[in-house]
Amino acid sequence: MSSTAGKTITCKAAVAWEASKPLSIEDVEVEPPRAGEVRVKVTYTGLCHTDYYTLSGNDPEGAFPSILGHEGAGFVESVGEGVTEFKEGDSVILLYTAECKQCKFCKSGKTNLCQSVRATSGQGVMPDKTVRFKCKGQEIKHFMGTSSFSQYTVVSQYSLVAVDPKAPQEKTCLLGCGVTTGFGAATHTANISQGSTVAVFGIGCVGLAVLEGAKSRKASRIIAIDTNDKKQSWAERFGATDFINPTKLDGKQTIVEKLVELTDGGLDYTFDCTGNTDVMRQALEACHKGWGVSTIIGVAAAGKEISTRPFQLVTGRKWQGSAFGGVKGKSELPAMVDAYTNGTSPIQLDAYVTHHATLTDIETGFAKMKEGECIRCVVDMSK
Ligand SMILES: [Zn+2]
Ligand SMILES: [Zn+2]
Repeated sequence: MSSTAGKTITCKAAVAWEASKPLSIEDVEVEPPRAGEVRVKVTYTGLCHTDYYTLSGNDPEGAFPSILGHEGAGFVESVGEGVTEFKEGDSVILLYTAECKQCKFCKSGKTNLCQSVRATSGQGVMPDKTVRFKCKGQEIKHFMGTSSFSQYTVVSQYSLVAVDPKAPQEKTCLLGCGVTTGFGAATHTANISQGSTVAVFGIGCVGLAVLEGAKSRKASRIIAIDTNDKKQSWAERFGATDFINPTKLDGKQTIVEKLVELTDGGLDYTFDCTGNTDVMRQALEACHKGWGVSTIIGVAAAGKEISTRPFQLVTGRKWQGSAFGGVKGKSELPAMVDAYTNGTSPIQLDAYVTHHATLTDIETGFAKMKEGECIRCVVDMSK
């Protein structure tokens, strides 16, 4: 047993005291895990737009003060009563989309949206409705059931998965959100078939992973769409056959008209990775009549609604959504990590990491993230 097991650990964490304020590096107290919980020493975490979105105060579920972060990897420090699946030292990836294998959703085999801890993690508390973090005498909320912006965190035993300890955590942390979300949307949710035509709107981390998913399914044409021309070389590196900047189209042609023209009537599969509801509509309407499928991945701002003419659906286009790429974290991430360590993965995981930061300068990491050049910034939690 680790020397810290059963004791409160004091460590550094980036605390979000209130919305729209910079994160503050603080000493926090992290209580031991209770029944069914695991305490994890977080080594690396990716910065994701969802963290920034919540910090901005626009997330209706955002609760403050809290410790954000949901793309984390690390080692198990200790386990609570009744936890048999994990032991001290296990190399783990945190799962904001939990998998309990017991709830109605898990047992259905139809979805990855486990509901075992969803209600409480959405409120920023553990399943017993209490918190494990304290700072300056005040209780601090959890975030998405993970809170990876702390050197130690406590999560439900359903919110993490053990993977090959040989895999570097500074890379595998990315499988906890963006990369898996995009790749899974292409290969699970849409289940792209060989020879298909594909268009991806929005070329960030998630969009690039959709491109890789489409490439792995041997799509015949993969069109990347982004308003930033600098994304063209990125898109091509991850499998795009074409790149279109919709702000630079000739004359009065719309992006939908352009895509329909290029693909003899529309695409077999389209993906929205922008979160912009106008773009979501374009992605649907660029689908081929009779069979085109459009998948929404981007998270729209609170209160936004999508719209189209019902005729678009009556004539055979399908509109669907995807969360965490339809991937079941516990069941599927270990094999994705093995493929990475064996060198057989279709995902160029290393290539997504364009920037590095430390916990102390996590704010600089966020600033980089907002620049177009950043695909993923990985934070070293030890410094
Ligand atoms: Zn994310
Ligand atoms: Zn479940």
